[in-house]
Amino acid sequence: MELPTPTVLPTKTRAARLYGARDLRVEELDVPPVGPDEVMVAVAAVGVCGSDMHYYAAGRNGQNVLRQPTVLGHEASGVVIAAGATSGVQTGTRVAVEPAVGCGVCPSCRSGRYNICPYGTCLGSPPTNGTMSDYIVVPARAVHSLPAGIDTITGAMIEPLAVAVWAVQRAQVRIGQRVLITGAGPIGILVAQVARASVATEIVMTDVNDDRLAIATTFGVTRVINTAREELDIADMDRVLECSAVPRRCGAQSRQSGPVAASPWWARRPPRSTAFRWPICSATRSISSQRSDTRTPTRLPSRWLPAVPWISNESSLAVSSSMTRRRRSRPPSLTPVTSKSW
Ligand SMILES: [Zn+2]
Ligand SMILES: [Zn+2]
Repeated sequence: MELPTPTVLPTKTRAARLYGARDLRVEELDVPPVGPDEVMVAVAAVGVCGSDMHYYAAGRNGQNVLRQPTVLGHEASGVVIAAGATSGVQTGTRVAVEPAVGCGVCPSCRSGRYNICPYGTCLGSPPTNGTMSDYIVVPARAVHSLPAGIDTITGAMIEPLAVAVWAVQRAQVRIGQRVLITGAGPIGILVAQVARASVATEIVMTDVNDDRLAIATTFGVTRVINTAREELDIADMDRVLECSAVPRRCGAQSRQSGPVAASPWWARRPPRSTAFRWPICSATRSISSQRSDTRTPTRLPSRWLPAVPWISNESSLAVSSSMTRRRRSRPPSLTPVTSKSW
């Protein structure tokens, strides 16, 4: 009888683990064994999201509080180096990692609405360890293979792109519309690109930072307004997409009636102090009436795979350019992978 090929997979990994505000430590952690329906991913790229920055700066992100050391990171891509027997994933597959992981067996998960799984977790959302590791082990259903034309850097951007696709679809942006996007950060820039690809005629973007606004003009934004200096008249806008988390500063003034609003940041509920007072219209109404539809911006029901064609088909999308900075980590110096099979 032929014996299986011996394999040596990494048992240790470097990981960036947050202990408290401004207390991020690069440590060596154990890599858990790969279960039958799991895969081990050699992480190639991880985005640093605003939520990671909040956890680092303050030890919390809104109502999510860091209560125990947690590995950050939820925007990741990499290569599968080990796959469990029932995972259905081939080793060597380049993948994007979806951070919202449902239990896989409850009624919500079985109906495809894993984003509202009552037992679900989100990678990088304390206390669930995230993707800022050389190696991670995740359920196979959390990885999506990357088409040949999408590199791993861009693959790591699929998570924030999915947020943008979700927001534009929620707002029902249509051909020829005039769209206001408040906030010129990476999410706002991605939303602008998806809105442009949806053939919005005019895309107005607000922020209080001139540098960000200057960058926005290179992504198809037709008009920028620094709301620290200039009043904004949004009377003739068809759609508003709030991407700043501080809409008051970005010129979204109170109105009794107005355009459809959608916000990547309001997935659970609009902030109480918001300046938006539009009648709750399609995008936000569907969120509040189906409160469970989307819990957080990263928990996007079935928006993951639809985001991929936006990269592969919409050549006008400069997704990876939407990142503000890049850093290259030194390669892992821990136990090398000596086999690609499992
Ligand atoms: Zn993110
Ligand atoms: Zn579930």
